[in-house]
Amino acid sequence: MNLKQGIALMSSVLAFGLATEAGAVCTQTAASNADRALWNTHGCWQDFFLWQYQAYGLRSGDWSNRGWNDACNVNLEFPKHWNASYLLTYGMADNGAQSFHGTVDYRATAEARSSKFHDSLYHSITDRTDVFGTFTPRFWPWDTDRVETACPLYNPTVSNSNPGSRAGDYMHEGWHAYFDKYNFNNGNTGGHRPGPQGACTINGCDYFYFHGIGAYAFGAMWENNGTASRFHSPNQVQVEFLCDVADQSQWWIPLSVRQTAAADANGRAASRFINGPGYTCGSPRPW
Ligand SMILES: [Zn+2]
Repeated sequence: MNLKQGIALMSSVLAFGLATEAGAVCTQTAASNADRALWNTHGCWQDFFLWQYQAYGLRSGDWSNRGWNDACNVNLEFPKHWNASYLLTYGMADNGAQSFHGTVDYRATAEARSSKFHDSLYHSITDRTDVFGTFTPRFWPWDTDRVETACPLYNPTVSNSNPGSRAGDYMHEGWHAYFDKYNFNNGNTGGHRPGPQGACTINGCDYFYFHGIGAYAFGAMWENNGTASRFHSPNQVQVEFLCDVADQSQWWIPLSVRQTAAADANGRAASRFINGPGYTCGSPRPW
């Protein structure tokens, strides 16, 4: 039973505010170079997107004017959403000597089904332009937790509109769901700590709980011992995933996908950790 006494809205805030714009949908006229480069590796794989919308709990009403019936048009939001899922489902190298975590961890964090990573959730979308995404815990016990991704992950003029950053937000919001499942309080500023403080330059800060490569068996990212010695924050999971995309992805993952993932990770490393900068993509592993 997980009946909430109130609704807490957890957001991954943008480092720099964008003007709020009215509009029913995100930009639908183009896709970023990284989205198109990854797309070209699968060429619109029907079996995959028919699996993905169920695995992520997508509801047709949320996506009806966003490519639900035009799933091979990479300019639209649903195709961009499943393109990011394709990256994290098939694109990781799962190198036990180098990867922070394995596909099994990243999938369990992102996908809808209940597990040790989080209770059941579903992915929706919002036209907000002031956040990358949000996590909203269910109110009623019979309802479902909700992950929303927002236009800055879909509008190609924003640097975060790329498959790595979008999937990285699945990690971030999924980790708010993890905190909700285990009743961890990561702070009351959108599910983070107030800032700026320490090396964190924005209002919404995390700690980076360093761990060595191999400290977590693949599938064990959910584990913690209640102390900082074995724990993850949302931005940390996101940065570790993004650096695994950048440095430990399959050989066929396009350079543009890896470079945009690294840029997102390194920007977060520099701005969102109290004990930052945290890990930087490309730095030697293990250390
Ligand atoms: Zn980790």
